[in-house]
Amino acid sequence: MQKLVLFDLDNTLINRQWALTEWAADFCRLQGLSDEDEGHLVGALRERAYPATFERLRQELGLEAQATDLWDNYVTGITAGVPRRPDIVEALDQLHEARWRLGILTNGAADIQRAKIAAAGITEAVDAIVISEEIGARKPEADAFHVAVARCGGTPWEEAWMVGDNPENDIRGAQTAGLGTIWVSHHRPWPDHLTPPNHAVPDTLSAIALLLNTTQTRTAR
Ligand SMILES: [Mg+2]
Repeated sequence: MQKLVLFDLDNTLINRQWALTEWAADFCRLQGLSDEDEGHLVGALRERAYPATFERLRQELGLEAQATDLWDNYVTGITAGVPRRPDIVEALDQLHEARWRLGILTNGAADIQRAKIAAAGITEAVDAIVISEEIGARKPEADAFHVAVARCGGTPWEEAWMVGDNPENDIRGAQTAGLGTIWVSHHRPWPDHLTPPNHAVPDTLSAIALLLNTTQTRTAR
């Protein structure tokens, strides 16, 4: 039997926060927006962005450009700002060599999520890419995890894990769907009101190392 691991995308496989901060600074400088506007922009886009988000921001910030053009600018800018991660790709390849099946499960709009995955160089490193907009279910809904597990093929699974940085969407969702959980903490404390993950690690490379080293570990069901 095979082993399966699903990865979150933003701030798990790629550093979205860094790309967002860089893009927002450039955008606000070119548009002549204030530091306060920049803070508002980053806050509005912190968790997730869709074309409709720019419809609202356009009005709030008094921008003249069409929302569709602002969205295109954002997609291009963020994609250009996503650092390539050869270290992550190498670690994913090691999982493949150890007979793991790999999937990405991410909430968001399909165009920008796929563009970021390509920019980071990880499209070919996984077996399935599952984006909420394309499947009509989003984390933390259990259905989103079930679709992603099915897309990776090869069931039944000897082990099935979720790796992500969001306690609610990634960890609580995966617990509901019956997966083992590894939380990428980025050195944050676990929120007390939620059931803790099976493992907490500071970064994604540590999560992959844990999977490679604990292949005998059974997931909590
Ligand atoms: Mg994330």
